[in-house]
Amino acid sequence: MTIKLVTSTVLPTPFAEFRLHGFLADNGKEHVALTLGDITTSEPVLARVHSECLTGDALFSLRCDCGPQLESAMRKIADLGRGCILYLRQEGRGIGLINKIRAYAEQDKGLDTVEANEILGFLPDMREYDIAAKMFEQLGVQQIRLLTNNPRKLKALTDVGVNILERVQHRVKTTAHSHRYLATKAAKMGHME
Ligand SMILES: [Zn+2]
Repeated sequence: MTIKLVTSTVLPTPFAEFRLHGFLADNGKEHVALTLGDITTSEPVLARVHSECLTGDALFSLRCDCGPQLESAMRKIADLGRGCILYLRQEGRGIGLINKIRAYAEQDKGLDTVEANEILGFLPDMREYDIAAKMFEQLGVQQIRLLTNNPRKLKALTDVGVNILERVQHRVKTTAHSHRYLATKAAKMGHME
């Protein structure tokens, strides 16, 4: 898949004034990156690869920890004055928004997140990371310190050629609602708690 950087602008936020970069992939998907400071030097860049979660990122959902994770990454990068967040539009672990809502409806009946996706006929995690490598490259990022608790993401990004110097623990507070989801991520998907 090819992806290209189309345009960039300033994005003032409560945390810092980021640069916002718009990317277009050849499958028509639009992705964005937030950057702060000069990320093109050889000094490792604090980075987060975040997959879109409309319910968590924009609707304050307590069913997952995506919103707090995104906010925490923005704060850490703002504190440091330098870093990069790739925001990949692969909603619901790649199954799409409507299917994610369907999976939630299955969970309402008592299934966990992995079982719910399997019932719907999808693999537990369909996200692809090859575009992330290309986005980092086009932004001029040489090597990163990755904010994540997910060993699969670490491996997937390494496999596609992202130069990860270090994993930086990225823990956020859990709520009563997200506790079960996070426990499932830890037990079934190998997340580090
Ligand atoms: Zn989420």
